[in-house]
Amino acid sequence: QAKNEGRNRFKYFSEELTRAARERIDIEIRLRQAIELGELRVFFQPQVDVETGEILAAEALVRWQTATGETVLPTRFIPIAEETGLITAIGNWVLRETCRQGREWLDAGLPPLRLAVNLSPQQFLHSDIRAEVTKTLRETGFPAHLLELELTESALMKREKEAIQILHNLHDLGVHLAIDDFGTGYSSLAYLKLLPLDVLKIDRSFIEDIPHHTDDMEITATIIAMAKNLRMRVIAEGVETAEQLAFLKTRQCDLYQGFLTSAPLCALEFSAFLAAYRRERSQPAA
Ligand code: C2E
Ligand code: MG
Ligand code: MG
Ligand code: MG
Repeated sequence: QAKNEGRNRFKYFSEELTRAARERIDIEIRLRQAIELGELRVFFQPQVDVETGEILAAEALVRWQTATGETVLPTRFIPIAEETGLITAIGNWVLRETCRQGREWLDAGLPPLRLAVNLSPQQFLHSDIRAEVTKTLRETGFPAHLLELELTESALMKREKEAIQILHNLHDLGVHLAIDDFGTGYSSLAYLKLLPLDVLKIDRSFIEDIPHHTDDMEITATIIAMAKNLRMRVIAEGVETAEQLAFLKTRQCDLYQGFLTSAPLCALEFSAFLAAYRRERSQPAA
């Protein structure tokens, strides 16, 4: 009896493993072709001034639209891309496409928006990221001061000495640097102080349960105060409710990003959204 149960459990377990492994390999093979087939897209999510409500920036987020019309989210393919080294090609493509789009919007007369691009640990530590950014800015004509690069705590914790050097190299180009998903890693204040970072993004997990979870409110308030002491701009991610925004306002958080304003949108939808948003705000409320 017990033996049978064990055997069944094992069978179930190994079937699960096989299924997961198969899906992984399938994604890997299809992902290799995705760039060449032009199946990747960059979506943009607004970053809003907490105080004024103005949209000042946007984060670029990659999407994979397959030939069958399925949209694959980055949480499903970025980890695989990271392990297989495909991430550098994908990340470089996202960087270029974002700068190209940003230049196009400037040329169309849109007010300048800062655009934030995520860099993976691989791309940051194991590719010549400085050369890539330099080349991309030159070739697209997008101004360095409008580009922000987001790094996760884990990327910065991996090889501290090298990471600091690379950050300085990037900062010298005039781009802004952000630490993403802050609070989920273990970076110390002493270490943070050494880094040329301009922006701190508070991880969504702390924002999620505001105003029901007083611990999270305390942590969020502490992170905001700390960022200000370090003279960093602070952004809350994953803001979904008016209550969360109201709390961030009382704590003087600089910017927020989240479904409350908009989900990430494709370039066309994003520029339409921006125009409508600005039109609405310029009209005095009836
Ligand atoms: P992230 O950089 O922390 O990006 C924020 C994620 O939160 C995005 O998920 C966004 O859609 C989601 N989000 C924004 N507002 C809300 C909200 O109000 N509620 C909820 N529940 N979620 C919200 P997305 O686009 O699925 O991306 C997931 C992660 O994948 C990103 O987290 C980032 O780590 C990674 N990623 C996305 N694009 C790229 C890329 O081009 N390169 C690299 N290396 N990583 C990327
Ligand atoms: Mg990010
Ligand atoms: Mg984030
Ligand atoms: Mg996050």
